[in-house]
Amino acid sequence: MDIFKNDDQVATIIAHELSHVVMEHSSEILSLACLLDLLILPSMISLHAYVPRFLVALLMQWVVNVVVSLTVKFPERRKAESESDMVGLYLAARACFDVREACSFYQMLSETEGLRDLE
Ligand SMILES: [Zn+2]
Repeated sequence: MDIFKNDDQVATIIAHELSHVVMEHSSEILSLACLLDLLILPSMISLHAYVPRFLVALLMQWVVNVVVSLTVKFPERRKAESESDMVGLYLAARACFDVREACSFYQMLSETEGLRDLE
């Protein structure tokens, strides 16, 4: 709480986090990851039918996790953060907070690299 200069900056962050919930970002990312899992599953089953080894299955699961992370989780998470920045500002403004404080707050966070801790 020491990093906030006023209530408007606190409201900016709370509205950002609230917008993640309102926009159901976790469900969206989880759904896309599950869909990609289902698309990859037939090839994993086929491979396991030919090579029924535990290590091969373990390696395939690791590959799937990497593919899901690179194609769904990381890009969608970045997109969700941008969307929450916009929607959060709207929510804070609707609650009569001064959203101009968001600019200076995000600027200060990016300069101190504290932005990663809040995401
Ligand atoms: Zn966020």
